[in-house]
Amino acid sequence: MGEIGLDGFVHGLNWDKQVQFFHAQLKLARDFDVPVVMHVRKAQDSVLKGLRIYKPRSGIAHAFNGSFQQADHFLNLNMCLGFGGASTFTRALQLRRLAAELPESAMVLETDGPDIAPEWINKQRNAPEHLPRIAETIAELRQSSVEVLSRQTQLNAQRVLPALALQG
Ligand SMILES: [Zn+2]
Repeated sequence: MGEIGLDGFVHGLNWDKQVQFFHAQLKLARDFDVPVVMHVRKAQDSVLKGLRIYKPRSGIAHAFNGSFQQADHFLNLNMCLGFGGASTFTRALQLRRLAAELPESAMVLETDGPDIAPEWINKQRNAPEHLPRIAETIAELRQSSVEVLSRQTQLNAQRVLPALALQG
């Protein structure tokens, strides 16, 4: 189920209504035993609270940009963390530390196209064609290879979104 979640960054959104819908969606995900893909923007702890209440089976916090502690909480709730264009920016120090140091079972790769363009096409339309170079950047941060990162993140995606595994 997704993309669901909470956005505390965009002005003019009704927070209480967001929480109300998010909780109803989490309940549906739990009742139908489907994974969740979540938008989490300036809302890490509120999203974690919802996950602890409804305990959906698994999922992804897309475009993750929290702390190491918040990352641990998501991982303990059987969620993976999405990394993409934002981690290609040299000034994104905290995000790059996360991308470098999180356990290999924690991450999935994402485009979020047309949003979150990588540094080399700053602010232009993002698309999946940029993902291989994003993966190279993240693999370098991890002092790993793009082959290892691709294989591991594929396995992670299939673990949290089991329908992907059926597609081979
Ligand atoms: Zn989003």
